[in-house]
Amino acid sequence: MLIELQDISKYYGSGQNCVKALDHINISFREYEMTAVIGKSGCGKSTLINILAGLATPTSGRYYFNGNLIDFSKQNQLSKFRYENIGIIVQNFALINNMTAYQNIALPVRKRFVKGKLVDSIEAIANRLGIYEKLDSFPYQLSGGECQRVAIARALICEPKLILADEPTGALDADNAGNVISILKDITEATVIIATHDMEIAAQCQRTITLSYGKIK
Ligand code: ADP
Ligand code: MG
Repeated sequence: MLIELQDISKYYGSGQNCVKALDHINISFREYEMTAVIGKSGCGKSTLINILAGLATPTSGRYYFNGNLIDFSKQNQLSKFRYENIGIIVQNFALINNMTAYQNIALPVRKRFVKGKLVDSIEAIANRLGIYEKLDSFPYQLSGGECQRVAIARALICEPKLILADEPTGALDADNAGNVISILKDITEATVIIATHDMEIAAQCQRTITLSYGKIK
């Protein structure tokens, strides 16, 4: 198993205002599997994705990645864990507006790759995703589908073991949404977990997990 979540809970607030975003979740994710996490708005999908990414700290429970217990109290270790293992794709792309597609894709690795490797890696990934011609364009010059492909390229540039996608097609029309899903399906070298409320997307994944009020149904 790549991931094991043991008894993970995430509560916001306390007392009467306590929201149980995740409520004693136990689940594993196999290497190279593509899983959809579905459920109504507010059921805890983003919270689950953020904990898996090491961006949110669970209130209780244990998160094992590749057999190692994640220590949420150590920020430096967490950032290293993220950089080495995780690629994240979000609904609204989160591209930097005053940077070109190339510069956006380079963001996570620009200080870590030598120049030659940086150029080669970015060109290869841009080719694979069909945005090579757009590398010098700024986000405002790109369509929604192209922006999402730049965001996917940025998530893949570190060669992560785990790709997390939070409503990756939420801002796209049906054609572009279909393209994004076929790109994600082609990523055979990583485990992919997609939070979505779109049943058509879920149907294309090998496995579906349904959340309801913070619990797995
Ligand atoms: P989903 O992504 O499925 O829509 P979320 O994980 O975003 O669900 O939210 C799960 C629950 O936790 C919701 O009831 C939401 O209002 C609540 N929640 C999420 N983030 C916060 C926060 N930062 N503070 C308080 N409540 C939150
Ligand atoms: Mg969400």
